[in-house]
Amino acid sequence: MARKRPKNGRWRLWQHALTESFAYSGIYSAFGVFERSVTLNLNGFTLDCDSLAVNSGSLVTTGIGALNITEFGVYVYEAATEKLRALENTMSFYRDTSEVSLLNRNAGVAPVRVSSELFQLLRLSKDVAEKSENAFNITLAPLIQLWRKAGNELPRPDEIKNALSLCEIENLILDEDSAYLCKKNCMIDLGGIGKGFAADICCGLYREMGVASAFVNLGGNVKTVGNRPDGKPWSVGIQHPDKPRGECFGAVMCSDLSVVTSGAYERFQIIGGEKFHHILDGKTGFPALSDLKSVTVISQSSALADALSTTAFVLGLKKGAELIRAFAETSAVFFSNDNKIFSVGTPNFIHVLTRQ
Ligand code: AMP
Ligand code: MG
Repeated sequence: MARKRPKNGRWRLWQHALTESFAYSGIYSAFGVFERSVTLNLNGFTLDCDSLAVNSGSLVTTGIGALNITEFGVYVYEAATEKLRALENTMSFYRDTSEVSLLNRNAGVAPVRVSSELFQLLRLSKDVAEKSENAFNITLAPLIQLWRKAGNELPRPDEIKNALSLCEIENLILDEDSAYLCKKNCMIDLGGIGKGFAADICCGLYREMGVASAFVNLGGNVKTVGNRPDGKPWSVGIQHPDKPRGECFGAVMCSDLSVVTSGAYERFQIIGGEKFHHILDGKTGFPALSDLKSVTVISQSSALADALSTTAFVLGLKKGAELIRAFAETSAVFFSNDNKIFSVGTPNFIHVLTRQ
């Protein structure tokens, strides 16, 4: 439970502490379970801890000696966590009670009234689908499920064909405040856009709470609020696709921007000794045969950056770059299969380090 907003005098003190020195990061899994970690950045002193440590208040005993900062951190952290939980309850494919599950269960039966948040997300998903010749397609869920359940054997051609017959974005009909999957057994999966959307909502909440400086990391979807507490822009590292987690080939300097990466290296399964990654091509029914190892998209909207990074990965370098150019104030960094780095967009806020 989030704490109640403190009474005036104290609130101002807390707010001051927060705007000066708070940074947050959390990891959010699209598959039903939260993993959380928190980084509190106290005027250059960074402390990493897990959510339990924060929630139990044990930060107070770390010797930082700034109870107001700690409590304020806990306060906003809890509020954000609660909001993220609520969003997960709305968007999760795997929770029976989520709006997404309700929509999926009612495929071919009846339209479902959805929250304005989900409606907004569905609309954006359809928009990106339209602009990408359906390379981005949230109705790929039957195919995604087929691959997830593949085990040690490749899905059979007839299974793929059958799944693909259900994966048309036109089957998702939006009307005022309702959504309808007009064909039985059609389903949606928001895995390619949901974390970005959640990052947007989380940063919106921080702004409402008076946070001037924050760093939100939801499973690789980064969104920043303002500058770092020391006034410099945030530096968001881009993971090198072939190197251990945490090793970056570049960084994006940004404030109030989102940085989202999609890549074949992120999640994959091995079938018959071969790697099959998780980003699917609705034209073939197979993992996209991209000429890219990863795509990083930088945009104010994290939901858009999330959707576009998945899409650009499917489209590959040439078409992916065209797609990015079609969106205003959006840029991207591509890492190709032959280890070349390309950037597209507004160069003054992208700074790619050449270290490899
Ligand atoms: P991301 O990691 O953001 O690139 O998203 C990958 C996730 O999006 C997958 O795990 C699927 O849940 C879903 N997905 C896979 N292929 C597509 C696609 N072509 N369009 C939309 N969502 C997809
Ligand atoms: Mg994505």
